Amino acid sequence: MTAGVVVVLNAGSSSLKFSLYEGDAVLLSGQVDGIGVRPGVTARDGAGTKLTAPDLAAGPPGTPAEALLALLPWLREHLGGRPLLALGHRVVHGGPNHDRPCLVTAALLDDLAALSPLAPLHQPHNLSPIHAAMERTPGLPQVACFDTAFHRTIPEVAQVYALPFEMAARGIRRYGFHGLSYEYIASVLPEVAPGLATGRVVVAHLGNGASLCALQGGRSVATTMGFSALDGLPMGTRCGEIDPAVVLHLMREDGLDIAGVEALLYRRSGLLGLSGVSSDFRDLLASEDPRARFAIKVFVYRVARGIGSLAAALGGLDGIVFTAGIGENAASIRAAICEACSWLGVELDAVANAATGPVISRAGSRAAAYVIPTDENLMIARHTRALLADTAE
Ligand code: ADP
Repeated sequence: MTAGVVVVLNAGSSSLKFSLYEGDAVLLSGQVDGIGVRPGVTARDGAGTKLTAPDLAAGPPGTPAEALLALLPWLREHLGGRPLLALGHRVVHGGPNHDRPCLVTAALLDDLAALSPLAPLHQPHNLSPIHAAMERTPGLPQVACFDTAFHRTIPEVAQVYALPFEMAARGIRRYGFHGLSYEYIASVLPEVAPGLATGRVVVAHLGNGASLCALQGGRSVATTMGFSALDGLPMGTRCGEIDPAVVLHLMREDGLDIAGVEALLYRRSGLLGLSGVSSDFRDLLASEDPRARFAIKVFVYRVARGIGSLAAALGGLDGIVFTAGIGENAASIRAAICEACSWLGVELDAVANAATGPVISRAGSRAAAYVIPTDENLMIARHTRALLADTAE
């Protein structure tokens, strides 16, 4: 294996998350928040000890790209004499053509920039630090890892919408997201859940963003997110699946414009919209407010219903895997979902569930249930290293 460090980057509109990997080990991780407003950096070493982060007050970065350029010298100081091998980036959209990570070139960036209209809230922010690093350190390899790539194995019947046929060729189709998380889970199944690795599995990525993925033998065959990361399950502030006629109605009746619709569906809906309390699951679980309880009920109902739908796509179910913030930590929610999936043969082991598994179903349960922590950054670090090794051959 090539010795050296890979920097994994995940850029949003106002934040830049970074982790330094040597092999599978995290040397350092942290984030810049409040970019464009009042940026601040927090960082910890691999053991979780807080580090003195660089002070960006002198020249506060206005974009994630500027934040990366401001951070790079500090990150280099923390390499401990090891070479910096590459930057590995999380990029939300790889479009219909990219079914795996790619080494960044100017042509690739043009290709990815053309996908920005498909993910206007994420893609431009993901790409701007790549551009900046390319200009500042042209010799440093960069790898783009896509949230959509893992879902390119989904059969065409499950990728199209029943719109005029030519729409799919224009890119209006189901892409699916959280692919790096699902790929990580698929990669560890042979070790953690050997009985499921070749079987029919629904992975429930339940975090601030939430989706389900149907795995058949470790490959994605169906998923709840679609053209955008708005579809499928209700999320922290996103509505998930709704009748598109609701949007038409609101535009007609309330005069909502594009920005108004976007704000409603992306930021004022989901658990926040239903509860009126919070988008954060911990707040909802701690709340006595009947609407917070109702929001949780809706969430559980929709997840269980989604699992049933994906079990239908799989032609049966051998197991469910829970992951991400809610899936990994909220035992009561896992219990409620498993209860609602008992008709699929899921029998929960309450003691194992309270102890966070990894197996949380009873011995002899027709469909197994597991809790497996996800690790999208590790997936990016591995892909980046593997691609470098491939290109060096
Ligand atoms: P993101 O999509 O931002 O990566 P995460 O996977 O970190 O999100 O998940 C965040 C969600 O997980 C939040 O709704 C948070 O409340 C929830 N969560 C985290 N820890 C717990 C916990 N112990 N119990 C219940 N929910 C939790």
